[in-house]
Amino acid sequence: MRKLLEAAVAVTFLALSTPTARAWWDMGHMTVAAVAYERLTPAARARAAALLRLNPKFDNWTRGVPPEEQDRAAFVHAATWADDIKRSRDYRRSSIAQDGADAVANIGYADHLAHDYWHYVDLPYSPDGTPGEPPQAPNALTQIEAFRRTLASDASDDVKSYDLVWLLHLVGDVHQPLHATSRFSRGLPNGDRGGNTETVCLAFTCGAKLHAYWDGLLGDRGSPSDAEALAATLPSPDATAAAVDDPATWVKESERLAEQFVYAGPIGDGAGPFALTDAYQADAKRVAEQQVALAGARLSQLLDRALR
Ligand SMILES: [Zn+2]
Repeated sequence: MRKLLEAAVAVTFLALSTPTARAWWDMGHMTVAAVAYERLTPAARARAAALLRLNPKFDNWTRGVPPEEQDRAAFVHAATWADDIKRSRDYRRSSIAQDGADAVANIGYADHLAHDYWHYVDLPYSPDGTPGEPPQAPNALTQIEAFRRTLASDASDDVKSYDLVWLLHLVGDVHQPLHATSRFSRGLPNGDRGGNTETVCLAFTCGAKLHAYWDGLLGDRGSPSDAEALAATLPSPDATAAAVDDPATWVKESERLAEQFVYAGPIGDGAGPFALTDAYQADAKRVAEQQVALAGARLSQLLDRALR
């Protein structure tokens, strides 16, 4: 019995410590920010640096970093803050209904809600005519629009700093196809919650969620300088695509990529597990790298225009 209990505790611990629904793990998010920082104008870099100093984690982000590199390191690291607060006891994780009017609060760092529902906007996709559900609001799209407006307004620097760290994160999120899509099908009529219902097999190991597989395509953890090195290896995004500044278009593109590449064979109907082929994985990696590079370019343009 004791052994069984220990095993149960170990399994529970593993389940709790396995990152789920984080959207591009830290490396993906930091790489988006590293691409953006390279492209920012000097004026936008300086304004972003001043705002990021107001974040309570600024000292953690820059500990041990030489002074001349602190602004860049903080900018890159800040892209993970919206995920980091989910694991902080100072922040409450709750639903839109539980948060009520506070679900759309934009009050700066006095807000201690984790706002999990800001990280995605799941457009319904149905391959077989099963009725889907529209995304709930607020969501990643409503918040990108709101935070962009605030950065260009005369709001306080505290609120602008908060909105900037969220933007550094959310522009990355909506370029992850499974943060823009849920699949409704005969096998999963209530939807797959952005690929969090299906599991996949890689080599001989099964059990990873489809969503987590896509989140991890750029790697898991690393330092801001690792992300900068990775950013330098990514293909340059297409200039026309990079110039698109409408977040609703970004989300629709992500949904189409999900149809084409996420829910491609060997992903079938139902929850799986589905054994991913080499061809599926090669396409997934290419799409993920393209999307991270594109997200970085678009984030840079958004900040160049909005930061005041
Ligand atoms: Zn996220």
